[in-house]
Formats: sequence, structure tokens, C-alpha cells
Amino acid sequence: MLPESGIITIDGPSGVGKSTISRKVARALSFTYLDTGAMYRTVGLKLQESGIELSEESAVRHCLENTRIELVPAAGERADVGVILDGRDVSRKIRSPEMSMMASTVSALPAVREKLTRMQQEIGKQGKIVAEGRDTGTVVFPDASWKFYLDAAPEVRMHRRADQLRQSGRDVDEKALLQMIMERDHNDQTRSIAPLCRAEEAHVIDTGRLSVDEVAEAVLQIVREG
Ligand code: C5P
Repeated sequence: MLPESGIITIDGPSGVGKSTISRKVARALSFTYLDTGAMYRTVGLKLQESGIELSEESAVRHCLENTRIELVPAAGERADVGVILDGRDVSRKIRSPEMSMMASTVSALPAVREKLTRMQQEIGKQGKIVAEGRDTGTVVFPDASWKFYLDAAPEVRMHRRADQLRQSGRDVDEKALLQMIMERDHNDQTRSIAPLCRAEEAHVIDTGRLSVDEVAEAVLQIVREG
């Protein structure tokens, strides 16, 4: 039996396949896909463009109070969620490797985490959500009905991310990309607030040797079992 409501969380490090899997699972269940990483990327862009010193907490808070983020559902199974920042379409801009690093930097700021966690919990109230990120099962939705943690070796994740970037027409320096992925892992795992870690009760899936369909099926199987 497929569930009619509830929240599914899918966390894990960069490039592990979370977005593709989450989109597939959401589609199979007719749930809404919540890409929390897109929100951190968008705030990263906003703070970068504003030129605010990130150590100035009150300035960061003030900037965030005047920030409007709207998520636009992905146009298809392979498409990313779109984002409108203060009325401007930034969907492509936030997907660059530079914005990945910026997201990782701003995601350690308490003001940023508070604002985005609140927004995500608000969206979650509607139920029928597949939330994807780093802390969705541990902090944002601790009472989620199903929690998953996807993992894979850094090299595997780098090759996947490289393929995605090439498909979107970007040049890729694999060595630099691997270094960035490892740096992001380190930042995400060691920050003091909401670090990337697996919720105790999360089902762990190593995506290294599995196809996208196999991982999505493994998730759906567990969800179907209740
Ligand atoms: O998943 P994605 O690569 O788009 O996330 C970009 C960055 O945003 C991550 O490296 C992480 O630092 C941050 N993030 C986070 N918490 C989340 C989702 C993303 O800290 N729930």
C-alpha cells in the first residue's frame, strides 16, 4: 500500500543522488518534492550579491527579513526545482559550483538556518512531502514517518556531479570538483548547528553500486511496508 500522507526525509552528502531519487519517489507517491538545498543556495546568492559581511549577524538577519523565496515545482523528472528570489528567476544561477560553496558557507549561520528551517516546517504542514537535504530527518522534521540517509564514496559522487554539470553545458575540472565535494562534506559535517549526520532511525542506502531506479525502488519498498 502506498501512503496517502506523511513526510519522507532523504539526507546525505553532496552528489549522492538525493535530488534524482527524491524527485522519483515524490512523483511515484504524488507527494511534493522539497529541495532544501535550493533554499540554502538562494540565500547564498542573496547574501553574496548584497555584499554583507557574513560575520555581521544583525545585518544578515535584516537582509533575510527582506528576502522572498518562492519554489517552482520541477518541470519534469530530470529537471531541478526552480527558484524565484525577490521576483527574479535564479534557477540556473544557484546551480553553479560557486553557489554550492556559498550555500555551504552561509548554511553554518544561525540566522540562515533559523529562517530556512521555519520556512521548511511551514511547507511541511501540508503533508505529502519528500524533503531532501542534510538535516531534514534530524532537525527540520524529526517526527517524519520515513527517514533515509544516502551515502557513497566521494569519487563516485564527484563523477555523478560532473555528469550533471556537463549535461547542463558547464565545463568540469574533476580534480577541483572532488576537492570541493570533500570541502563541502567537511563543512557540512563539522558545523555546530544542524550538521550533516544520519538520524539514528534512518534507513541507510549506499548508492555507489545501485542505479537510480534501484535506489528509488528500495525507498518505495520501505515506504510501502509502512
Ligand atoms: O543539496 P545541495 O547541494 O543543493 O545543498 C547545497 C548546500 O546547502 C550543502 O552543501 C549544505 O551546506 C547546505 N544545506 C544544508 N542543509 C540542508 C540542505 C543544504 O546545510 N538541509
